[in-house]
Amino acid sequence: MDLLEKLEILSDAAKYDVSCSSSGSSRRNKGGLGNGHKAGICHSWSEDGRCISLLKILMTNRCAYNCDYCCNRRSNDVPRASFTPEEVVKLTMEFYRRNYIEGLFLSSGIDPSIDETTDRMLKVAKLLRGEGFHGYIHMKVIPGSDPKLVEELGHYIDRASVNIELPSTRSLELLAPQKTRKAIMAPMAQITDRLMNTTASYRGKKETFIPAGQTTQMIIGASGESDRDILTLGQALYQRQGLKRVYYSAYVPINQSALLPKLDQPPLLREHRIYQGDFLLRFYHFQAEEILTDQDPFFDLDLDPKAKWAMDHLDLFPMEINQASYEELLRIPGLGPRYARRILYARRSAHLSLDSLKSLNISLKRAKHFITAKGKRAPGAFFDPEAIKRDLIGGPAGIKQLSFLP
Ligand code: SF4
Repeated sequence: MDLLEKLEILSDAAKYDVSCSSSGSSRRNKGGLGNGHKAGICHSWSEDGRCISLLKILMTNRCAYNCDYCCNRRSNDVPRASFTPEEVVKLTMEFYRRNYIEGLFLSSGIDPSIDETTDRMLKVAKLLRGEGFHGYIHMKVIPGSDPKLVEELGHYIDRASVNIELPSTRSLELLAPQKTRKAIMAPMAQITDRLMNTTASYRGKKETFIPAGQTTQMIIGASGESDRDILTLGQALYQRQGLKRVYYSAYVPINQSALLPKLDQPPLLREHRIYQGDFLLRFYHFQAEEILTDQDPFFDLDLDPKAKWAMDHLDLFPMEINQASYEELLRIPGLGPRYARRILYARRSAHLSLDSLKSLNISLKRAKHFITAKGKRAPGAFFDPEAIKRDLIGGPAGIKQLSFLP
């Protein structure tokens, strides 16, 4: 099989992995090729909206495991291929030179064993750096990898991810019985621990260890967990493991299995709502338990999570924008961190009126129902909850809500 045929198979096999965005690396070119600090790996968007980098590939799609939800599982009858480390390096360097990519995202099936696979991936990273490649490298760390290999790999790559895969141990046992939560958490915790203690020198040089940090990916909708379960797990991963990002991937129904749900298409709106909830955790000072409760554990598909929270707490509104704290301003639908900072800054010199907000270029389209300025309500603000909700949805259910917060 020639290299292009392999590329076709192994880039297609990698398309369901969504944890491919890059940021945060500050390593710079010192006379070689490329720059790890440049904004993001080159990526494109697939038909179903997923981010796919041009050189996002698997080392191999042969796999000893048989996870129910995976297109590469052992029992699937699909074309199989494997790259050698030298072939991955050749492709990466050639694509980079032609300006097709800004880096490499490399994952793999397990063939023949976890450590042999990780060792081949390590070889790719070493060869690339040895050839003077300073571009971005993101690699998957396979759960169960020898900690010594993980440690060594960490000195060559910019970002690592260990996929959590499913939101509970029970689902893992059911759909990926060869994987264990313990094996997944071990390299994740090793990397977290190492990142927190990366000060010593390595081989006499200033040490770098996975400078862009680690991420993970969770499949949404292949198992029965609620949105609350998923968001609570995401929150724990940010707080306890210090992850840079948790990626959520709507389950794509490609395999036949009695253990999998019968879906016509991936639950993309649900995935979108979970991402919005994740934004609330990371940028809006919310806790998962505030956004979703035991009684109401799923996101509203009509209203975005922040608007839903506000509608459930109408007793806290309207908020006087001259008195609200930064955290309170962030809770007002339609106001994000940028607007909240603008308001705080402008408030230092004067009390703000509705006209002042206008001159600050702050849109009140959504916020108007939830604020007062110098005690005055904005024109067009409603008091009736149903009218507010209708205005927030702004059209056929969920359509206008397919945007990001605020
Ligand atoms: S180990 Fe990874 S590649 Fe192999 S079947 Fe499971 S999810 Fe797929």
